[in-house]
Amino acid sequence: MLQIPFSHHYIKLGKEFYEKCAPAPVAHPTLIKFNQGLAEALGITADNIDAAELAALFAGNQVPDGAAPLAMAYAGHQFGHFNPQLGDGRAILLGEMETPNGDYFAMQLKGSGRTAYSRNGDGRAALGPVLREYLLSEAMEKLWIPTTRALAAVTTGENVAREQLLPGGVITRIARSFVRVGTFQYFAARGDAASVKLLADHVIEHHYPVAAEAKNRYLALFEAVAEDQAALIARWMQVGFIHGVMNTDNMSIVGETIDYGPCAFMDGYAHDQVYSFIDRHGRYAYSEQPSIGLWNLSRLAETLLPLLAEDSDISVEMAQDALQGYVKSYERHWLNGMRAKCGLTMDVDKSISDEDKPLIEALLNTMADNQADFTLTFHTLSQLTTQRPSDYSTQEKSLRDLFVEPSQIDDWLLQWRKRLCAETQTDEARQAAMQRVNPVYIPRNHQIEAAIRAAEDRGDFSVFHELHEVLQSPYVHQAGKAEYMRPPRPEEEVKQTFCGT
Ligand code: AMP
Ligand code: MG
Repeated sequence: MLQIPFSHHYIKLGKEFYEKCAPAPVAHPTLIKFNQGLAEALGITADNIDAAELAALFAGNQVPDGAAPLAMAYAGHQFGHFNPQLGDGRAILLGEMETPNGDYFAMQLKGSGRTAYSRNGDGRAALGPVLREYLLSEAMEKLWIPTTRALAAVTTGENVAREQLLPGGVITRIARSFVRVGTFQYFAARGDAASVKLLADHVIEHHYPVAAEAKNRYLALFEAVAEDQAALIARWMQVGFIHGVMNTDNMSIVGETIDYGPCAFMDGYAHDQVYSFIDRHGRYAYSEQPSIGLWNLSRLAETLLPLLAEDSDISVEMAQDALQGYVKSYERHWLNGMRAKCGLTMDVDKSISDEDKPLIEALLNTMADNQADFTLTFHTLSQLTTQRPSDYSTQEKSLRDLFVEPSQIDDWLLQWRKRLCAETQTDEARQAAMQRVNPVYIPRNHQIEAAIRAAEDRGDFSVFHELHEVLQSPYVHQAGKAEYMRPPRPEEEVKQTFCGT
């Protein structure tokens, strides 16, 4: 029996906010994976339940006790163009839970059939993107990056028609909230100020309760949302993550990474890296992400203006100040995180730490010029000593090997070592601290692809399971798993990713 401690909140906002709808059953649900640890953390009990029952539940064939299924309404700017009517076209909210320590979580099936917002879509998901989202979202969690989680994945035993027929899947995902910037835009675009206010109050009550005590609660909400986005996007940048579709409907109000479509981690570093097939003009390129965050927050601000102050000039000024706050906060998060990746602390003279930003940028430029692997560069860097060994150490050799022109990284290392001399911490302490923030393993595109190929082509999920297992401990070396550290060989490289959902 699966017991989910539902306690519904979103549904109480009223019928403008959603359309009730039940998941459509699938032919032959089969469980791929159930995230027992997450279930326990959420207070879900799964006693005496077999894989077939779990599959039926997480395919939507059997609606869990106490669920109140619905599709949420939202709008959104897609690649800069406003669409006033999107909504959950292939996702169904089963409801929310409140954990014993007072945190709220929502549970959604994705790929569970048509809803009132499906437009021409079939409401289904292909297996590939389901596996992709499972691997990526759970990897992000272990990399300490705020994200929606994966509770379960199933195959449906049905095909979905995309460019070709593909096996179907359903993923059950967990988020603190599925409210998006686009949810606010939906009501603002309709001139429904009362609903914008209701929604803002809902988000404050459940996710930003501190804002309720502020003099201006809606300004406090906006500032908190902006701060969380700044922190989130800085984290993406620090692991080489490219979301790929930062439309306002794909931007969570609570600062979690959401909607894993054509996203990807970079292998070789390039400032303007784009993987998504549909992002033809590079709007959502790696280096554009911080400014797209600002653009999206500006769209959110527009919806909140009437709530900030009665005088519209004053509310615009407030919003602009808060947006400036985002820019500064992002810079701070980025720089501090990059300092940590390079083993630099602030326990040095200000005149020295003031030079950290150019030093870090010089490293990134050198990496870009040499297409050096993002993850391995920082991982290898975190093993080097402050004193340059008389001969190249093994680690130093591994680092140099990542660069087409190794002398370029030699030059940078000279500067870096000079900077390290100002540090008071020991080499061992610095290396340990660096290794805590520089992952060994990331979900590399070619490995995700291999997991999907094995599952789709051969019905073999072992590649998926093993990759998932390795990504559970991204910061520690695992015996016999060197293969997972390796960048793709030219023939393995995934140059483009697709929504494909
Ligand atoms: P996304 O690509 O997840 O950002 O989705 C953009 C919009 O298209 C959302 O409103 C989705 O619900 C909708 N959508 C995407 N794929 C499908 C599908 N297969 N069936 C119905 N709606 C879909
Ligand atoms: Mg979306």
